[in-house]
Amino acid sequence: MILDKADVVVVGGGTVGISTAFFLASKGHDVVVAEAREVAFGASGRNMGFLHMHNRAAGFQLELARAGRALYDEFSELLGPSFEFQTNGAMTYFYTDEQRQVFKEFVDMRRGQGVGMELLDAEQAREAAPILSPDVIGATFSPEDGQIRTPKFVRSLAQESIRRGVRIRENTPALGLLKSRDAVKGVRTLYGDIPADRVVWCGGVWSTMLKAEGLDVPIRTERLGAIMMGEVEEQLDKILNGPLAVKQYSFYRDLPSYKDEYFTSPNEDSGHGIEHLEVVSKTENGNLFIGCPMDYPDQLDDRMPLGGLKMAIDALLEQFPNYRSLGVEGTWTGLIPATADAMPILDEVDALPGLVLATGHVFGNLAGPITGKLVSELISGDELSLPIDELALDRPALANADDVIRW
Ligand SMILES: Cc1cc2nc3c(=O)[nH]c(=O)nc-3n(C[C@H](O)[C@H](O)[C@H](O)COP(=O)(O)OP(=O)(O)OC[C@H]3O[C@@H](n4cnc5c(N)ncnc54)[C@H](O)[C@@H]3O)c2cc1C
Repeated sequence: MILDKADVVVVGGGTVGISTAFFLASKGHDVVVAEAREVAFGASGRNMGFLHMHNRAAGFQLELARAGRALYDEFSELLGPSFEFQTNGAMTYFYTDEQRQVFKEFVDMRRGQGVGMELLDAEQAREAAPILSPDVIGATFSPEDGQIRTPKFVRSLAQESIRRGVRIRENTPALGLLKSRDAVKGVRTLYGDIPADRVVWCGGVWSTMLKAEGLDVPIRTERLGAIMMGEVEEQLDKILNGPLAVKQYSFYRDLPSYKDEYFTSPNEDSGHGIEHLEVVSKTENGNLFIGCPMDYPDQLDDRMPLGGLKMAIDALLEQFPNYRSLGVEGTWTGLIPATADAMPILDEVDALPGLVLATGHVFGNLAGPITGKLVSELISGDELSLPIDELALDRPALANADDVIRW
């Protein structure tokens, strides 16, 4: 049975898939999106929304992030205030002299790489973020960082894509590829076939199902949780990263003064592989948004581990004891397709002509929409806004996906 047909079928309605559909439709392609559940069901709908420029490694990663960041100025014009876009920057606060030395080295390094960053003393830090604990002795500030509400962004862009002719089929899992003489000719879904000249697979962490088509996608499942609390009065217009978060980033770990012991807490449950990617922010409605318990489950299990929930709550109560009676509005986790070099995969699959793979996004807010733009240029035969060689599926850096736990 034929369900629909199109020039291009996009599998997955997350930020990567919807951005891809949007840019393709804007270039005149007839596009169908097949989404197994609903738009923004996956990581994109469960995300903290940070546009963290200061944590992007120098070189192509930073270039990609800058190009991705610039797109939000355009989306803001196009979509209006629908997705809580803020550009007030991010801070990373700290408590000890040992941590301060590491952050000083980090700020010096980043400034040398052209990333705007400052080191604030305790007074400046509390002036910028009055909710910080009196024990905080300083913070970094990165003015280039911004924030969105990713589920709102993806849904808003999906609506705009529909206005441009995209047909989004929710509750429509793609079961496999349609092929003719080994060339990909569309997808088979639960409700019928969708023939198409090209298929773009943007299935996030679930892209590993392409193994059934003979394609090994070198990603590992990383699980991140978030907790949405009630509304708070205190002013907070910046992202607040805690010191524990930094150990997730290779370029902090490579600094001369870095030691793991400075950036671990007894609240973390390293015996079960649960670490704290420590962040706090405030939504437009005033809700306190906290994260992120993080681990690497062996399976595609998107439930919050109890130990992770306890860790995040213990840390919140220690640092912000005034919030003991604040209500919990919701907790959830999402699954991220982690690659060995923390860079996405965007490539035409040689073994399956007609298939473009677009997955492996760990920082999908910055890298997702620009991926969609690049895919649309690739498929249209246009000049690419950025070279994509460093995003190739066969790049050597992807060889050891199973070992990866750091970005
Ligand atoms: C708690 C949390 C906090 C995060 N915070 C940030 C942050 O602050 N900044 C940042 O940049 N990133 C953050 N991330 C990571 C970010 O969410 C991801 O990088 C990004 O959402 C990946 O987008 P995606 O479109 O590739 O995947 P997803 O959003 O997971 O979308 C994939 C979609 O494909 C669909 N799908 C899969 N297989 C099929 C199939 N066979 N047929 C049809 N549909 C299919 C799924 O249902 C899903 O909707 C966070 C993630 C989590 C979980």
